[in-house]
Amino acid sequence: MFNLLFSTSNQRKINSYTPLIKKISSFESRLEHLSDNELCSKTVEFKKKLYKGNTIEEILPEVFAVVREAGRRVLGLRVFDVQMMGAIILHQGKIAEMKTGEGKTLVATLAGYLNALSGEGVHVVTVNDYLARRDSEWVGQIHKFLGLSVGLIQQDLPKIERKLAYQCDITYVTNSELGFDYLKDNMVLSMSEIVQNKFAFCIIDEVDSILIDEARTPLIISGPSEAPVEKYSRTHLLSNILVKDLHYEVDEKARNIILTDKGTLFCEDQLIIDSLYDLEDPWVQYILNAVKAKELFIKDVHYIVRDNQVVIVDEFTGRIMSGRRWSDGLHQAIEAKEKVAIQQENQTYASITYQNFFLLYPKLSGMTGTAKTEEAELDKIYNLEVICVPTHKPLRRQELPDLVYSNEYRKWEAIADECYDMYRSGRPTLVGTTSVEKSELLSKLLMQYKIPHSLLNAKPENVEKESEIIAQAGRQSSVTIATNMAGRGTDIILGGNPNYIAKSILVDLLIGNTLVTKNLKLKQLSLRTQTSLNNMLNSLQEDLKQVSFSVLEIEKKISIACEQVSTSNNFEHKLRQAYQMILSEYTSIFSKEKIYVSQAGGLHVIGTERHESRRIDNQLRGRAGRQGDPGSSRFFLSVEDNLLRIFGGNRIADLMQALNVDNDTPMESTLLSKSLEEAQKKVEAYFYDTRKQVFEYDQVLNSQRQAIYAERRRILESGYPRDCVLQYAESTIDDIVKFWQASKENKTKSLNLNIKIKYLLNATDTFSISKELYGNPEELKKWIIEQVRINYDLREAYLEQIKPGLIRQLEKYYLLQQIDNAWKDHLQKMGALRDSIGWRSYGQQDPLVEYKNEAFNLFIEMITHVKHTVVYAILRSRLMIKND
Ligand code: ADP
Ligand code: MG
Repeated sequence: MFNLLFSTSNQRKINSYTPLIKKISSFESRLEHLSDNELCSKTVEFKKKLYKGNTIEEILPEVFAVVREAGRRVLGLRVFDVQMMGAIILHQGKIAEMKTGEGKTLVATLAGYLNALSGEGVHVVTVNDYLARRDSEWVGQIHKFLGLSVGLIQQDLPKIERKLAYQCDITYVTNSELGFDYLKDNMVLSMSEIVQNKFAFCIIDEVDSILIDEARTPLIISGPSEAPVEKYSRTHLLSNILVKDLHYEVDEKARNIILTDKGTLFCEDQLIIDSLYDLEDPWVQYILNAVKAKELFIKDVHYIVRDNQVVIVDEFTGRIMSGRRWSDGLHQAIEAKEKVAIQQENQTYASITYQNFFLLYPKLSGMTGTAKTEEAELDKIYNLEVICVPTHKPLRRQELPDLVYSNEYRKWEAIADECYDMYRSGRPTLVGTTSVEKSELLSKLLMQYKIPHSLLNAKPENVEKESEIIAQAGRQSSVTIATNMAGRGTDIILGGNPNYIAKSILVDLLIGNTLVTKNLKLKQLSLRTQTSLNNMLNSLQEDLKQVSFSVLEIEKKISIACEQVSTSNNFEHKLRQAYQMILSEYTSIFSKEKIYVSQAGGLHVIGTERHESRRIDNQLRGRAGRQGDPGSSRFFLSVEDNLLRIFGGNRIADLMQALNVDNDTPMESTLLSKSLEEAQKKVEAYFYDTRKQVFEYDQVLNSQRQAIYAERRRILESGYPRDCVLQYAESTIDDIVKFWQASKENKTKSLNLNIKIKYLLNATDTFSISKELYGNPEELKKWIIEQVRINYDLREAYLEQIKPGLIRQLEKYYLLQQIDNAWKDHLQKMGALRDSIGWRSYGQQDPLVEYKNEAFNLFIEMITHVKHTVVYAILRSRLMIKND
């Protein structure tokens, strides 16, 4: 019933787009007749219209029609109506759910172009550097054709070029580069170092991965601090002698450890300390982390050890998250367990969660194949509505019912059997696993069966290679094992992808220096092609001998050769000829293969475990049956799988026992599937709660961060920071006088105030506040402020003589430095506050409320501290005195 309501409401929305799409199409016949130049000049025309006061909505139909026409000319792709619908949804600041292979990359160009016309930059966000580059090179051609500038940010891009890339109309960038650049921009000491412009509009590709999966770990910029490293090794040793269920309990569901009273006493005894909870010398967190590392964090599942480092593996996706670290000392605890170098505990300099980061955009939108299941969260946290766009062609994928085995090993054997059957029948198979370890287990099995296969592990450095392999995962009889996100964003075309193979052959030949005759991928080509390719290659290599290109330059040239932009460069031209020759041969080989593979049933996707959310399962399933292709998917499960074990309870195991199933017979029952789905829903709800909690707590820090960043920016932009220093001085004097008044009973008050102010002004011993002023605090304040001004003027005049302008720089520097230091300390205190609230949360009060109150106090304290230290630092700095 609910589902029905749901779908009709979505249908209504979909239908409401029809008139607009018709209107867009009505421009088509006129635009077809324009020359390239005329089409391109539309961009200026649109900009003028906006300038003259036309709204963006008014020009949308013609704009989209122009992009459609440009796409047809530049890439040979005519935007489908359903893609238009996706683009409208993006433009409206919503999420378009469009299945894998529906062409979301192209969809983004329409909304991107439209919103860039106003002159405010548009950010197109992807999950990795490879996809950012691919998309900017591929569909970026449309923008360039229409006269917009396209920027690309990659991990190693130097600051100057980074800034230029952000200044472009459209910038392709990954979520992490974008977030880190934001944090870094808020740590600079001069405006010229800032790389990002004001945020305007952002389109997030694979939006669920970024806003949901990655939302659990914040982005952190950190540096060394002086925390004691030996605590980790000591607590690691201690954790080894602690006994489960005696000294501590493990809550596997909440991934949490609880120390028992016995355990607490035992630890205090062993460490010879009075209390684990002493805030001056805290131990409890170290112990909990050490036990967590022992019980809950498993090597090769949650992390891997590489180059003597502990590297996080994303639980959901099996992706390796280089450079990310678990926070609050957990990472160090695992380093101690693995006996690798414990990296000095880092102090956070700046941090933000993706949740709060993306909310900085006044307009946000996203696209993905799988968002509907997370609709509530996307709406609540990001205020993003999800609309499902129908597929261009009807979906023909067969979703086969789950098979459940009573034993894990038997399950893997059954998977290998299924791979074998597919391999024999010529169908391509994609197996998704949740960890590198399991991929390797299956790979070994397949080797025993003598089934050729490829193995992908989603390591960032392999992304490019892996997408090449994934691109060919639709070839006849190919078997590909991949941790779930390996090669994501790359389309699996039945029969194979001729573009990818042609490009990779060129790379092999020119960069890998393999001979044409030795190249396996070329074996299938006709002899005639091989010979002319050989000739072409010789000539290219002759050219290469004369000009020494770096590998990077050659790669770039190959990329250009594979694009459709015109080139006048002779070398690129020859490359393109070679490329097109290979391409056309492979296009015909692959199209034959495609017919064969389609008739055999298309791509078969095997899931080896249910994930903790239905959405991830759907991502995997969605690999098959793209664009109306035939295909199928099936999940193989066992009662020993994590999800079933932890969340399914014993119900399923009991059920299997009751039915007296032997090890070899899989179960296929609706009752079971229901239980599974229930379990998944429970897990989803659980993780949603965790993320919501992270979000709610981060909200507090977020408003503080915004206040600090705004103040920082005000100072940075100010041409006259003296005003700011004097403001701080007034507020400091206010505090001092208030404090003095409050302690009026105290007999030594006048002396105290005199000393305090004398110190502040760095005055000589003869300084004395006149008696009358003590009776009138308002006058007193005015007088002191006046003294500060006089004092300041003198110093300024003196410094101006030595080095004009220096004082302004000094002021800025002091202000920023004090703010940054205080903010760092504040972050640490807030972290400690969160932990301590966690311990105290058993009481009556809502921990969040308590946290908010205390956080507020800490923040006020910090602001006061900043003001005071800035004023003292500047008024007393040696550079400024020198007045003999
Ligand atoms: P998604 O991101 O939705 O999974 P992609 O953007 O990677 O899909 O595109 C998948 C494939 O669909 C690409 O090979 C692309 O060339 C093709 N494609 C996209 N749009 C069109 C179109 N309008 N006409 C024909 N092919 C298209
Ligand atoms: Mg995509």
